[in-house]
Amino acid sequence: GAATIPTASDSGVQVIVRIRPPSKDEEEEGSVVQKLTGNSVSISDHTFTFDSVADTVSTQEDVFHLVGLPLVENCLAGFNSSIFAYGQTGSGKTYTMWGPPTALSDENSLSNERGLTPRVFERLFSRINEIYNEQITDLLDPTQRNLQIREDVGTGVYVESLTEEFVYTLKDVNQLLMKNVEDGLNAARMSRINLVDLAGSERQKHTKAAGDRLKEAGNINKSLSQLGNLINILGEVSQSGKQRHIPYRDSKLTFLLQESLGGNAKLAMICAVSPSVRCKSESLSTLRFAQRAK
Ligand code: ADP
Ligand code: MG
Repeated sequence: GAATIPTASDSGVQVIVRIRPPSKDEEEEGSVVQKLTGNSVSISDHTFTFDSVADTVSTQEDVFHLVGLPLVENCLAGFNSSIFAYGQTGSGKTYTMWGPPTALSDENSLSNERGLTPRVFERLFSRINEIYNEQITDLLDPTQRNLQIREDVGTGVYVESLTEEFVYTLKDVNQLLMKNVEDGLNAARMSRINLVDLAGSERQKHTKAAGDRLKEAGNINKSLSQLGNLINILGEVSQSGKQRHIPYRDSKLTFLLQESLGGNAKLAMICAVSPSVRCKSESLSTLRFAQRAK
């Protein structure tokens, strides 16, 4: 695709739906989820609209362009950024975040099927190299970047326009160095990236879980619904600009991610759905969750 770098989206939460292709069995049974024009999705007689919809013909690269590239740029600009993959088991979360296992081996590391995580890191490192590599910066005046090397018969090889300071004592030198260290620290940027492949969102009544598994499923559901609740509130706050209590401490997941949500942080939710008739009620509940996150 074109090498344009999208700018950071300005709303707090970007919601994307990805409809995976049907498996062989599912193909015979028919699909109930369809992408419509204008980033809408239909499921039986319901229609929902999102920031973007990736359908069965969308590639891993398309998804990377939608959410991965803006995330990397956010991160380089010093903002925390997160991508969550939400959806029932088998809907394509791991495929989206990592790609199929075959795409992750060393020999296949450039497979077209590799997912968001390897692509985000490739991009991050190539951008960092683009920014810092082979550039001469004036340490006494860090605003002077990408200085040129010149050669002169008299002086020999030298860096053009470097700052020169006269020093008379060791104290002068130390002072210069100290000032530099401070500037260096001020110029450093820190940001975090979270790439999260969430637990399956299916409701436990369909999973036939019992005992500890049922309890685990209950806690997962609680954690996911608290994440959903929090994302809802963040969405409202970013739209209305109003202050509001944000319940980060309601679950370990949201507490852990506190620094990376809210404020200037950017968040993308990829809601994965299967097109299959068999998954209709779970897909509907995923799309409802996705809608609330908007
Ligand atoms: P989840 O992590 O949500 O449980 P997976 O990512 O494991 O689901 O996907 C289930 C199956 O569907 C896997 O075999 C995966 O390779 C396949 N799959 C998912 N999404 C796609 C896609 N967009 N294109 C091709 N195959 C996919
Ligand atoms: Mg998975």
